[in-house]
Amino acid sequence: MFEDIPVDVGLVHEGERIRKSDMQFELGGPKVAEKFELVRLKPAEEIESGAIHIIGPDIDELEEGKSHPFGIVIEIAGPELEENLEGVIERRIHEYSNYIEGFMHLNQRYDIWIRLSRKSFKKGLTSFRFIGMAMQELFRNELPIIQEIQITFITDPEEIKPLHAEAMAVYEARDARARGLSDEDVDVFYGCALCQSFAPTHVCVVTPQRYANCGAISWFDGRAAARIDPKGPIFPIEKGECVDPNTGEYTGVNESAKKRSMGEVDRIYLYSGFGYPHTSCGCFEAIAFYIPEVEGYGIVHRGFRDLAVNGLPFSTMADSTAGGRQIDGFHGISIEYMRSRKFLQADGGYEAVVWIPEEIKERLKDYIPESVFGAIATEKDATTIDELKAFLMQQNHPVVTQWTEVAEEPEETAVITAGELPITTGGFRILLKNARIYADKVIIQPIQPKKPGRGEKQ
Ligand code: SF4
Repeated sequence: MFEDIPVDVGLVHEGERIRKSDMQFELGGPKVAEKFELVRLKPAEEIESGAIHIIGPDIDELEEGKSHPFGIVIEIAGPELEENLEGVIERRIHEYSNYIEGFMHLNQRYDIWIRLSRKSFKKGLTSFRFIGMAMQELFRNELPIIQEIQITFITDPEEIKPLHAEAMAVYEARDARARGLSDEDVDVFYGCALCQSFAPTHVCVVTPQRYANCGAISWFDGRAAARIDPKGPIFPIEKGECVDPNTGEYTGVNESAKKRSMGEVDRIYLYSGFGYPHTSCGCFEAIAFYIPEVEGYGIVHRGFRDLAVNGLPFSTMADSTAGGRQIDGFHGISIEYMRSRKFLQADGGYEAVVWIPEEIKERLKDYIPESVFGAIATEKDATTIDELKAFLMQQNHPVVTQWTEVAEEPEETAVITAGELPITTGGFRILLKNARIYADKVIIQPIQPKKPGRGEKQ
């Protein structure tokens, strides 16, 4: 099937990682402003079936070791296709492009980050034509409702700008379609297990008011996908009984999580970052991270290049959050979920949010309650916890009230929770999974190399 392509194509390459030192170059990623992938439904007569267009330098013309702007536009046609499926089919770009040996695709939509390995380049993967051929074959085979397909790759730094703006407008229009419906209005949610190849215990529960972690699949997208591909990775979840409307716990969601995670996860709170938070695979657009010093959440998104207010970069916190685990206080979310009225509802919603990068705060300004908008710090207001505390007190943020209450408690204890706490002793590594440790005091000291005693050899 892929005999004209100079590298191997198959499931075996999914999950392959390409280190910076092994890459020919990067497409998109954190250093590049213009990057996107987009699927559009078109009338069949507007598609040149099987065509692959390249706007800008091809693979063998792109400078080695650098990061380049990159766009992929896939236009499709077929009598059974509908606009609601665009987002779902677009999400498959991640899966299918990862089947190509030496081609690593991360994230989605306007966040894509691709690396081509030097090894595959040397094997002859020197043109986007090969990538396009492999993807066309995979799309046609896996999703037979696609009858016509053409693909355009864009690398020209000027040509990509208007196309990127157009893609952003399409994403916004798709997201807006799903707003207005509430979780109470429906009997069925949708599950997506597409990321189980990376995080085997992870399933996204997609509800009208809790968009998928990757920000690419709405409840409407889930409904359309489950209908046209009932054996595919997106499936219906009967809600069942509502155990607690505040945390968003449903019996049907719990049963589905248990089944799909092979017993690892058996309870899910849809609207909380504590207790039984929704799992996080690794494709989340942002992380809600709890800051114990101020008893509130910071939010950091994938595109934020500096350190968050707790002194950690996105990548470090992503390691603590990802993998399909339930980690108290480290919660993978989508930007669209931050527009939901159920956003972290059980933890206080925006009244519990203390810090957000300015770019995201601006994007969400119509969704953050006015009463707290000015009291939420950005990187312009606070870059350290001390600065954050001062800002929150000055702005009289709602979390400040809790500080007073705690100060009046006779005994104060620190609570540390960890997903996996490693202890190394006597040649063994002991992992305390989901341990909760209560202590009056925690002292962390570096282990100094033992100084030789008197009479001992140096
Ligand atoms: S992040 Fe969730 S919704 Fe998005 S592709 Fe992965 S499993 Fe599916």
